[in-house]
Order: sequence, then structure tokens, then C-alpha cells
Amino acid sequence: MDIKQQIETLRDELRKHNYNYYVLDNPTISDFDFDVKLKQLQELEAKYPEFYDASSPTLRVGGEVTKNFETVAHEHRMYSLDNSYSKEDLLDWETRIKKQVDGEVQYTCELKYDGASISLTYENGQLTKAVTRGDGFQGDNVTTNIKTIKSVPLQLKGDFPPKFDIRGEIVLPFEGFNKMNEERIEIGEEPYRNPRNTASGSLKLQDSTEVAKRPLECLLYNITGTNLNISTQFESLEKARAWGFKVPQAAKLANSIDEVLEFIAYWDEHRHNLPYETDGVVIKVNSLYQQEELGYTAKAPRWAMAYKFKAEQVSTRLNEITYQVGRTGAITPVANLEPVELAGTTVKRASLHNADQIAKLDIREGDEVYVEKGGEIIPKIIAVDLSKRPADSKPTEYITHCPECNTELVRTEGEAQHYCPNYNGCNPQIIGRIQHFISRKAMDIDGLGGETVALLVNAGLITNYSDLYELTVDQVLPLERMAQKSAENLINGIEASKQIPFERVLYALGIRYVGETVAKKLVKHYKTIDAIKNASEEELVNVDEIGVKIAESVVAFFASEANSSIIERLKHFGVQLEISAEKLANQTNKLEGSTFVVSGVFTSVSRNELKKLIEDNGGKVSSSISSKTSYVVAGDNMGPSKKTKAESLNISILSEEEFLSMIR
Ligand code: AMP
Ligand code: ZN
Repeated sequence: MDIKQQIETLRDELRKHNYNYYVLDNPTISDFDFDVKLKQLQELEAKYPEFYDASSPTLRVGGEVTKNFETVAHEHRMYSLDNSYSKEDLLDWETRIKKQVDGEVQYTCELKYDGASISLTYENGQLTKAVTRGDGFQGDNVTTNIKTIKSVPLQLKGDFPPKFDIRGEIVLPFEGFNKMNEERIEIGEEPYRNPRNTASGSLKLQDSTEVAKRPLECLLYNITGTNLNISTQFESLEKARAWGFKVPQAAKLANSIDEVLEFIAYWDEHRHNLPYETDGVVIKVNSLYQQEELGYTAKAPRWAMAYKFKAEQVSTRLNEITYQVGRTGAITPVANLEPVELAGTTVKRASLHNADQIAKLDIREGDEVYVEKGGEIIPKIIAVDLSKRPADSKPTEYITHCPECNTELVRTEGEAQHYCPNYNGCNPQIIGRIQHFISRKAMDIDGLGGETVALLVNAGLITNYSDLYELTVDQVLPLERMAQKSAENLINGIEASKQIPFERVLYALGIRYVGETVAKKLVKHYKTIDAIKNASEEELVNVDEIGVKIAESVVAFFASEANSSIIERLKHFGVQLEISAEKLANQTNKLEGSTFVVSGVFTSVSRNELKKLIEDNGGKVSSSISSKTSYVVAGDNMGPSKKTKAESLNISILSEEEFLSMIR
């Protein structure tokens, strides 16, 4: 098979697997096998850039950075929808329709997905443009980001028209949203409030690699264009599905408003089982001919109507406000409620977020409160029923001392949360920190779980993560549910963690704001724990992408005597606290002080590998040419505007070979 054919075959296969997995939810290949094939394709494409294809599945992983999103006009305006809230509203709408069109009217009922709207343009079956709704007339070109969303086909199948726009909604399903939040909480960041805002925020991230990591989905609902040879809305949904788009199966035809109401009643109840958020139903006149006759008002089509579900709300008694202490010492107030049914689940607790939130709503123990389940996973209290407030009610006084260790709480200027500063003596902080240390992305200790950590701490066997390395089988054997075998596994798991590379150890230490990415950056720059420890705040801030908040937190961590001695102990036990010799061998300072811009397509290395080479050798990579740029590394097809700019600023342009000889 020649190279071109080999590349095409891999692309076709990967496309099919992407489709099976992300559109049909029915994978037919293991993740591992998929990754192997993807890697093969990436290597071939890097080696043979002449076969570049703007719809290759390798573009799904991102890599391009957009500093400013270009504004583009929509060829067909993106309208809003009129809203209705009752049967009467819908009957009124039907009356208006019947005055304007002849004959029977059928309706397509669809769910109203709650996310960010997007308009995709396809030409000859390839995605050429993806634009946000903006003001309806023009939006932002977010094509590179949209290409990373796996359910958006880059190449259509079947019998599609040569050119059309298709509209849909980018949503973030609950499962992925929750996972993202767990990770944020783990690194001490505020969780995202709801999937909708997170989805729309994602579209405007500058680094498409970050977008690729988010489990976004694209659900389609409307095809626009000319000469499409489609006569009804329902047919257009079926066609979109056949071309490879993700179109939810819920869509249904209705012959009357009564049937529309049945659809609404069904989904008002069953929408809670859907994997993503919906906030209503959209009803559309099915015949496109009738749609044309009805036309548009200044803001919305006359042929469509949104029906908004009522946000589910109940009132119940707030029995008690309690306070939780997190791993970082952050205090979260929790409302303990008289159990109540809401949106199909029993609600007993609601988050109160922080002291300001309680003060703003004047929430008090004993109050009758309204609880709502909106986009958020955890229900929230939206108001107090003041008419039911007991006569002897007193305003809530926020706690001043830690509920676990009684230390006086602190609240830093500009932060919403109170913290317990008793870092080394507060039980949930001690346990939480060790739980973080052993977690999967950190030291990944086999045979040790979060509950066992609590048992070990409460039994007085350990007080910090360095103590893990002195545990013996005999010590852990008496613990609940421990047997000889599991005790041995635990000790072996701890021993094995001594091989975990430094960047993960640094993350495992649980320094506030030092998540996985920051840990990698610090390790790359400083290479040893001692170098990080000795870095001043100013030096840290000068490391690429390390901000003041992170720098302060790192300095504070190492300033603590207790932390220093824990780290000495880890060192003594043989935990990896510097970059391995093997990794170090590939790193030099040859490019220190130089900033590079990479442009074009390369032959012997991929663009990402090239960037990594620059960074590994101490150089910086920047995405745009400025007077600060030292060199431009130019491959084939370097953009003409970049070339002119580099020349006008007198910046040296290096060929791939010239660059490689610089680091050799
Ligand atoms: P609104 O933003 O309340 O005016 O509602 C209009 C928006 O609903 C549109 O811009 C779409 O983004 C969104 N939407 C969600 N699901 C659908 C659907 N099935 N059909 C049409 N629009 C939808
Ligand atoms: Zn405490």
C-alpha cells in the first residue's frame, strides 16, 4: 500500500470509530487500539505533510492557539425563539398560524438543549467554518476549537448537499461536567457553576488543546441553505443524522397541540434522565413550505415556539446550617433540609456557598426556604419564605472558629471562602491531604483507598503523607477489613510509589493552586525540589504561566518548617524529588533567553515535537511574532503575513535543519 493510501485508510477507520463512539455511543474498538491507530496517523502526517487534510481526525486533539477570534457575518441570520409557558400560549400560537397558512399543520417537537448555539458551515462535505451565535447577525469564528469536539463530523458521509449551514447546541453533559469539577476542587479551585456557562466559555478558550480535553458534545437541530431538497423539519433531522451528525432521537411528530402537550408532559418528567441539560421543548411547524409562508418577526421565526419547563422548585424547612472543612482548609456552609422530593430525587442538603451568600439571602435556621434544581447538580436555595419565619428567629452568625479543630478562621481579602489555617492539626485537612497524595493522578497507590487513610490517621499511625513510607504490615493488619493479603498489597503499593516521576510527586504534595499542569511547568523549569524551594516569588512569577497567586502559595508552602521536614523524610525514603537522569539528558539550556515562533509544516518532526524541543532546551515558544521574538522557525507553507512581519522586524528565520543543528 502506498503512503497516501495508508494515511487515507487510517483516517477512514478513525472517523468511523469516532462516529461509533461519539455519535452512536457504541464503540467497537478499545480506547487503547484507537490511540495506537491515532498515533500511527499522527506520525505519518508529520512525516508526509504533503497529504495534509483539514478534516483529518488528528485535528481532534487540538494544538492551535487563537489569540483573537475573528468576527464573521452569518450568511443566514441566527434568530432567537419566542417563549411560551402554558397550553393557552400554545393554542394562541396555533390560531395565529392557522390564519396565515392553508391546510393541516403538523409539528416537530424537539428538546431544547441548554448550551451554547453554534452555526457550522459545510462545503463539499467538509466542515469549513464554525461560528458562535453572537448577536445573531455576526459571531466569532471558533472553528479550530469546534474541530476538537468529537461528535462534530469533519467529513460527512452519504448524500449531502454541496453547501449548507447546520445549527446546533454545544452542551457539556453532566458526567463530564462533574468530573471537571472534581478535578478543580482537588486543586483548590472554585468549581464551575453550571454546564451551560462552562460550555459557552469553552468555545472561547484560546488553546484548542484545552477545549479538546473537555467532554463537549454538539447536538444539531436545524439545516439552512438553498436547494437542499428537503421538505420538512423532521426530514431534515433524519438527513442530518444520516450524514453523520448527532441528532437526539427524542424528536417526534405531532398532529395537534394536544399531541404537543403530551410530548411536553412526557419530557417534563423524563428529562431528568437525560445525560445533558434541557430547559424546555421547541415546537416547529413541520412543513418547510409553511415555514416560508409564516416567515419571521424582527427577532424570531413565526413557525417555531419554545416551551420553557418550569424550574423545579419546592419549599422545605432548613433544619440546620453545618460547616464542612475541605482538604485545603476551605469552609463550606451546608444547609441541612427537611427531606423533600425534587425533580425525581430526595433532597436533604443544599450548598450555601459562603458567608456572603447566606447574608445576601438572610438565610436562617428554622426558615422555610425555596429550593430549586436548575443547571447545577447540587440544589440551591433561592429564597426564604419570610411569611413563615418563626418569631424568635435570629440572623445567622457565621462561624468564627473551625468546627473540627476550633482554630480561629481567616478570610483573605478578595476571597469568598473562609479558611481554617491549622494546616497541620486539623483532621479533615490532614486526611484530605493524604487522600490527595495517594489519588490516581498523584502517587496512585494501589491497595490504599480514601477510607483506609482516615482509619490510619484516626488510629494514630500516620499524621502526614511521609509517614506512609514507614508503615509495616503488622501495623495495618489490625485495621478494619484488613487481612494479610490486603495489608501486604498496601505496603507493596506504597513501596512502588517511590518510582512515580517527580512531576506527579510535586502535584501530590497538594500545594494550593499547583495542579497537574502547573506541577509539570515547575518541574520542567526547576528540575529539583530544592531549586523550587529556593526560588523567590519574583523568580517564580517569571516562569511562563506562573502567576502571583501560585508563586505566593509555593513560597508559603516551602517556608513552613513542617513541610520542609516532611519533604526531607520523603527524600530519605527514596521518593522521586528531582527529574530523572534520563529526562535530563534530553534537556539543555542552549536556547535560554530566546523566544521562538513556529510556523508552517515540518518534515522530520511534528509541530508539537518541535515546540517541545524548544522548551526542553530552555527556549520559550510564543504564538505571535513581535519585537520580543528571537527566531521564527519556518517549515513549508509558512503564512505570508507572518513572513512579512518577521522580515519587517528583522527577525531571523530559521529552516527546520538550521534549528535542529542549533540544539545538536
Ligand atoms: P433563547 O436563547 O431562549 O432565545 O432560545 C433560542 C435558542 O435555543 C437558540 O438560539 C438555540 O441555541 C437554542 N435551542 C436549543 N435547542 C433547540 C432546538 N431543538 N431547536 C431550536 N433551537 C434550540
Ligand atoms: Zn480546622
